[in-house]
Amino acid sequence: MIKDRNSQIGQNIHEIEENIQRACKNSGRKTEDVTLIAVSKTKPVSMLQEAYDCGCRHFGENKVQELVDKYEQLPKDIKWHMIGHLQRNKVKYIIDKVYLIHSVDSLRLAEEISKEAQKKNVTAHILVEVNIAAEETKFGTTREETFKLVKEIAHLPSIRVEGLMTIAPYVENPEKNRQYFTDLYQLSVDINRENIDNISMSVLSMGMTGDYNVAVEEGATYVRVGTGIFGERHYNAV
Ligand SMILES: *Cc1c(COP(=O)(O)O)cnc(C)c1O
Repeated sequence: MIKDRNSQIGQNIHEIEENIQRACKNSGRKTEDVTLIAVSKTKPVSMLQEAYDCGCRHFGENKVQELVDKYEQLPKDIKWHMIGHLQRNKVKYIIDKVYLIHSVDSLRLAEEISKEAQKKNVTAHILVEVNIAAEETKFGTTREETFKLVKEIAHLPSIRVEGLMTIAPYVENPEKNRQYFTDLYQLSVDINRENIDNISMSVLSMGMTGDYNVAVEEGATYVRVGTGIFGERHYNAV
């Protein structure tokens, strides 16, 4: 899959894919059930192209304008993931460009997504973002709210919940996040058991550069890795 192993980005991707394979093996999972999303926020198009040339087709961005700009410049077979907080008035700019919106945490936002998806005649695929560690600084629903929100979204047209997403706390030792990943997995199992129409719980988006190995062991189907592929981000250098 990887064409250019000599580039730094290529080496990084290769290493991460090997780690994912190992984590799958450790936990009796299939490698093909886990997809690496290259989180490319703040990085120039040339670096995304490099990752693309190394086989990456899933990219994650957290800002609407940046996603749209990159969408226009890069190959059309890229699957774009909106992973950042999404304002309702910006939904219209990305609704027909994104493959999956990971960051839905309110009914009002879901309603807007549904409305814009109907206008453009598409089905929006979304995840409900859960603040599993109940951190005050984070977006996302509480565990308790998640059931209610999922059931409410199930009634809206042109929008489909595919699963859950979480941003675990920043930790030095990834083992500290294992319980949160187990909790998100368990929550998805509990919701799935309710057999809600129009709702799937097949996707779990969890794990970043520091903790994706543990997340895969606990059931992640998407891991979102930025720094591990592209290096440190310099926020004022874009
Ligand atoms: C930036 C970001 C990531 C990637 O973080 P790294 O630690 O650089 O891998 C993953 N998920 C979300 C939601 C992000 O905003």
